[in-house]
Amino acid sequence: MSAPRVVSVADASPAQRAGLRVNDELLAVDGRVPRDVIEYRLFVDEADPELEIRRGHEELTVQLRKAAGEVPGIEVSSALFDRVRTCDNHCEFCFIYQLPKGMRRSLYLKDDDYRLSFLYGNFTTLTRFTELDLERVLTERLSPLFVSIHSTDPELRARMLRNPRGATSLRWLRALLDGGIEVHGQVVVCPGTNDADALETTLAGLVDEYSDLTTVACVPLGVSDYTTEPSMRPHTVAEAAAVIDLVEQWQELCLRSLGRRLVYAADEYYLLAGRQFPAVAAYDGFPQHENGIGMARAFEAAFHGDVSAAHGVQPGFFSWVDGAPAAGYRAPRAPRAPRAPRAPGALEPGTQEQVRVGQAPIAVLTGEYGAQVLEPLLRDQDPPIRLIPVRNGFFGGNIAVSGLMTGTDIARALRHEPAGQRYLLPDVCLSEGRFLDGMTVADLPLPVEVIPSDGYSLRLALESPAGPIRSESVAVVLGASP
Ligand code: SF4
Repeated sequence: MSAPRVVSVADASPAQRAGLRVNDELLAVDGRVPRDVIEYRLFVDEADPELEIRRGHEELTVQLRKAAGEVPGIEVSSALFDRVRTCDNHCEFCFIYQLPKGMRRSLYLKDDDYRLSFLYGNFTTLTRFTELDLERVLTERLSPLFVSIHSTDPELRARMLRNPRGATSLRWLRALLDGGIEVHGQVVVCPGTNDADALETTLAGLVDEYSDLTTVACVPLGVSDYTTEPSMRPHTVAEAAAVIDLVEQWQELCLRSLGRRLVYAADEYYLLAGRQFPAVAAYDGFPQHENGIGMARAFEAAFHGDVSAAHGVQPGFFSWVDGAPAAGYRAPRAPRAPRAPRAPGALEPGTQEQVRVGQAPIAVLTGEYGAQVLEPLLRDQDPPIRLIPVRNGFFGGNIAVSGLMTGTDIARALRHEPAGQRYLLPDVCLSEGRFLDGMTVADLPLPVEVIPSDGYSLRLALESPAGPIRSESVAVVLGASP
């Protein structure tokens, strides 16, 4: 167990009034030691909780004066205070096995922890789920959860997870649904393994046995140059089109029988197959946006001013592994001081070379898939906006999403670009200020402006001579884990 540290105290909050400080370690609440941020929030929900804290070498007791249900006003340094539950699977498509050596240790962590599923939207296979976990989920109503299904054929699922428990662990999915927990599922589709007839069998199995799932995303596996699995390969164009056709066919069936679509195909399939994305309405509010379902349409809608579609950075692959705290946790956050707007034409601070942002030509850095989405949106802008697609040489393979852009590749793309222009970069490729390869924005050869990864923010950045508000960054999105 490692005691969480206070990382911020909100102004005028019960915590501030009680004298809590940044760096205090939280040991217990009313004599109970919370195992994670979920329990912490439940414990401090009571009226007037008593906190045991460690400040330096001193242990203190602090009583918060607050009503039941009132937010105490502190944010802590980690989501889990005990050990994260790692997965006991060895999936042949696992992207973590496809990372090059020498990246930050936390990126190699294979989590399969239902608490991270609830907090951050990470997918869990349930192979290590237990009766006690079920009891906790049902008692504390940890809903929604996100479950990797891959196949409803027990033998195929066990083979894909390389774990005999893969054959039986979907019984927990049934128990969660029976207990009224909202569950979103995903199928990572691997060509030659669980696509085509196998995918059809899975979709039929879902409708038969798990039709009370809220949504199911069909996402393609990511294949990097570092895969050691000879049978894992990207989809061909025809295979991508076949997945779309099958999913759309089952959407129609589900609409008729269940009154909702249930299954959705990832944006990557439409890009790969060269097909038009479905209409905004066909995404039913984008419940799996962070898993790459409808991102392009949501981005487009937000770019054209539909603020309700302005999804920002969402939790996803690698989202919590650096010990990110409550970033994805659905809880009121300690308010931050708003950044004062700069005057038109003012200089962008904190960059290697200051640029007159009100006058400079603009270029947008994005992954190769992002460029396909942005090109029609930016085509007729006046003055013209340039797109700089960043080829992913770091991972290679079929990796083309913006979230997996690395500093190395962005630096290469910028190397021959002129100075004195504004370069906009979506924050989805940064986690706690670092790219996946450990570089930071300051390491790039030209100054860039990091903006939230949604269409509305891009529109604001293009229109604002004062430049965008820099966002916090947490995550990337690739539907490959677990
Ligand atoms: S894909 Fe997920 S479940 Fe499979 S081995 Fe990797 S981390 Fe574990």
